[in-house]
This record gives sequence, structure tokens and C-alpha cells, in this order.
Amino acid sequence: MIPYSRQEINSKDIKSVIEVLKSDFITQGKKVPEFENKVKKLVNAKFAIAVNSATSGLHIACIALGLGKNDKLWTSPISFVASSNVALLCGANVEFVDINPSTNNMCIRNLEKMLKSAKKNNSLPKIVMPVHMAGQSCEMKEIHKLSKLYGFRIIEDASHAIGGKYKNSFIGSCKYSDAVVFSFHPVKIITTGEGGMVLCKKKSINDKLLLLRNHGITRDKDKLKKKNVGQWHYEQHILGYNYRMTDFQAALGISQLKRINSFIKARNKIANRYNKFLKNLPLKLPTVSKNCISTFHLYIIRLNLEKIKKSHKEVFSILRKRGINVNLHYIPIHYHPFYKELLPQNLNLIESERYFNEAISIPIYPKLSLKEQKKIVNDIKETIL
Ligand SMILES: *Cc1c(COP(=O)(O)O)cnc(C)c1O
Repeated sequence: MIPYSRQEINSKDIKSVIEVLKSDFITQGKKVPEFENKVKKLVNAKFAIAVNSATSGLHIACIALGLGKNDKLWTSPISFVASSNVALLCGANVEFVDINPSTNNMCIRNLEKMLKSAKKNNSLPKIVMPVHMAGQSCEMKEIHKLSKLYGFRIIEDASHAIGGKYKNSFIGSCKYSDAVVFSFHPVKIITTGEGGMVLCKKKSINDKLLLLRNHGITRDKDKLKKKNVGQWHYEQHILGYNYRMTDFQAALGISQLKRINSFIKARNKIANRYNKFLKNLPLKLPTVSKNCISTFHLYIIRLNLEKIKKSHKEVFSILRKRGINVNLHYIPIHYHPFYKELLPQNLNLIESERYFNEAISIPIYPKLSLKEQKKIVNDIKETIL
């Protein structure tokens, strides 16, 4: 099977993990802050907090920005369920903004329309969470403008997008948002096994995130309420979690980060080849807008079903049978049984539903060979023509 994505681990990665395993601290040592500093520098962010997954990062970012009971978070229905789950974990409600079919990202017009009517009904969201689908940034400048007009906070779900750029800035700089979250799951751009990172620009948010990551505990001398007690002293100030990353994971992240440029270059090269090989077929290929450099975490094709004699389901299963582990990113979140029970039934998310009926993620990862790519293209042609 050719996977749709996979990690690339080399001998230097392995060596760096082993070094930490042999050292005194395999967690809460020096590698986590080193990794945080390196990512922070790369993306030009003010603060970086490593966590044990992007899901954990999204969760504590929501809490740090004050999301709670009776609040609303708006996100895209075409995302991994985590984007929406974290709102519910905070006791808040979730609502979905339909996608723009040319980018598969949250549609700005729909967002604006929904904001206008929510303002009338006094039901504005506290947080909007754009998702940078496949590694292409949402239109953050426009979303930021709307946030000033309607008074919401912004968390970018940049799980796909470390190393990507928007308007000449790295995604993660927080130029147009309150917080940005990366994922280091093995299918993503760089990996720590499981892992994630939150970037933010305000010290108060950074301090809150640090507390939430570690049980709500602080050892910071300036923050302790009791002074001059024994050296054992630490204090819990809020209710938090254990969302820490280990040091051997951070070591893997540091080692992977050295190759991020080559990973993204390789992914873009593969994407450009697909663009060339698959043009003039009854397919809609991904587009990247002028403002953006995509990481190409995913390469998503959409079937023109009017011109293809097979169904979406058939094309998908034939490609799987031919040894290509195609995938579908994502089943619209509101289609999951859990969400069906929770949400109103008449959601008007036409573009997301259309997307779901046409989309297929085909393999893309740095080590995908030209030969494999030609086989994939050939199999697609034989299936749809
Ligand atoms: C992978 C992913 C997540 C969750 O990341 P984890 O690190 O696995 O928790 C969240 N949102 C999106 C869009 C993702 O692709």
C-alpha cells in the first residue's frame, strides 16, 4: 500500500532521541524549551508552548482565551473533529461556517453573513477557529478585520501548516490571531510521535497556557502567594491538565525541524507534478492563492462526477484495491453520529457537503518517488476515464 502520508525519520533523528533516553531527564528537561525556542524563532512568534498533542493545544488555547459555558466557537465543518471537540470540552457550543470551494477553507463571505445575523440575535461567537486546510492559510487579514468589528478571538488550527506562509509571514507568527496551534502527529509536516505547540503573542496568555499544561501548578517565585517557605514549595493556582511533551519527543522535533524546508520543498514539488500529470482530467485540482505558500500536507482532488461514469465511492475503493491508500479529509464534523444528536438537523452547509461527495486525498509525503507518483496517476486515469 502507498500511504496517503507518512513520517520521514532518519538516523540523526533516531540518534537524537537515544541521546535523551540515555540522559538524566527524559521529561521536564532542557529539550522541550529548546524545541519551543527553535519553533518560535522559525515562525517569528513571541511565545511557544509545547504540548502532548495539537488537540491539547487547541483545548488549553480555548480555555486561556476564556471560552466557557454558554459561549460559542465557530469553526469549519471540513476539519478533524478535534477542532470542534475542544469547544465542547470547555462546555461551550460549536457552530460551523461553510467552506469556500476554491480553497476548502472557511468562507469569509459566509463568516461575515453569519456574524451579521448573530449580532442581531445577540449570539456572537467568543472564538473563531479557522483551519488551514492542507497547509494553505485562511484569509487571516479579513478574519482579523471581522474580529475587530464583532469582538471575537481567533485561534488558528494550523495542524497542517507549520512552515507555510501567508502574506510573507510564517503561519504561527500570530500577526492576525490570538493563538496558533501546530500538530506533530506522524502524518503532519514534522513529527514528535504525538505532539503539538501553541504560539501566542500576549504574556498573560502564555502564562495561562503554562499553568494549564502543568496541572495549574507554578514554581515561579514572583507568582507564589506564600513567600519564604521551604525549597519544596510549589502552588496550584487553577485547575489544569498534564499536557506536557517529553524531552525525547522534543529532541525528535528539534532534529526534524532542521529538515522542514526540504520537507516542504519536496511536498510542493510532488504537488506541482500532480498538477501537471492530472490536468485536463475530469478533476478539480487544489489551487494555492498568490498570498500563500502551502505546506501541501494533503493533496486533495475533487471528482467531476458529471463527467465520470463511476461514483465517488467506487473510485475510492478501486484506488484502495490498486494499493493506494487514498483517504478522505474530512467527513464533515456534523455528519458524525455524536454531532448529529447534538446539533440541529437542518444545517445549511452546502459546500462542505458537496466537498464530501467529491474529495479524495491522494498520497503526498517527502519520500514519495516519481515512480510511485506515476503509478498513482496512471491508476487514477484508468479508474476515472
Ligand atoms: C491532526 C489534526 C488535529 C489534531 O492533532 P493531534 O496532534 O493529533 O491532536 C487537529 N486539527 C486538525 C485540522 C488536524 O489535522
